[in-house]
Amino acid sequence: MPQAPKPQTPPSTPIVVLLGGPGSGKGTHGQALASALGYEHVSAGGHFRDHIRRGTPLGRQASKFIENGQLVPDELVTELMRTLFRGCPAAKGVVLDGYPRSLAQAEALEEIAAAAGYAVTGALYLVISSDEIVRRLSGRWTCGMCGRTFHETSKPPARPGVCDACGAELLRRADDEPATIRRRIALFHEMIGPLLGFYRGTGRLVEIAAEGTVQEVSARVIANSGVSGINEPL
Ligand SMILES: [Zn+2]
Repeated sequence: MPQAPKPQTPPSTPIVVLLGGPGSGKGTHGQALASALGYEHVSAGGHFRDHIRRGTPLGRQASKFIENGQLVPDELVTELMRTLFRGCPAAKGVVLDGYPRSLAQAEALEEIAAAAGYAVTGALYLVISSDEIVRRLSGRWTCGMCGRTFHETSKPPARPGVCDACGAELLRRADDEPATIRRRIALFHEMIGPLLGFYRGTGRLVEIAAEGTVQEVSARVIANSGVSGINEPL
């Protein structure tokens, strides 16, 4: 008996999700990974700020929560992400940074991605100890005038306490006090736990040691991205 041809589903365009807490260097490594893979680096935060700046209906709703110091609810974040992927032609893979941040968001992403012709193929988690995060963030000094940031050990200003760019005084932001950093880390771990479980349970989680130089960590991220063909010559 002749068999009916199998329905052909077009292959999905890959999304690699990058997960990491405060001070993990997620943005830097995300960009390095995207350029190594020839993917688009998409910052969810950048997309949200763009909506807010342009005053779109979604952006206006989001800014109400932010102004009141509240987290933007999952449903609204989902709508914002939907607009992002609706506008993408799905021609190029994506390194996604800053989303999802909760289990509900990870589940929503599956559906948003599929509707736009994408699939989440891997979730890379940048693992870093709390002590290292505190060390990285608490050494940070910010210029009160131009906003440039410096670091006691990794990026010191030419003159202690003075901004190289504009000569104004460097200040320590309240966010960068050790006690505040420890609270942010605890909150991050609370949120990320179920999310890691979700990607681990579906065989897509890759944990990457994120301590060392930027170059070392980026090389590790790229080597472990789980995207096949990356090391093959063109
Ligand atoms: Zn300055």
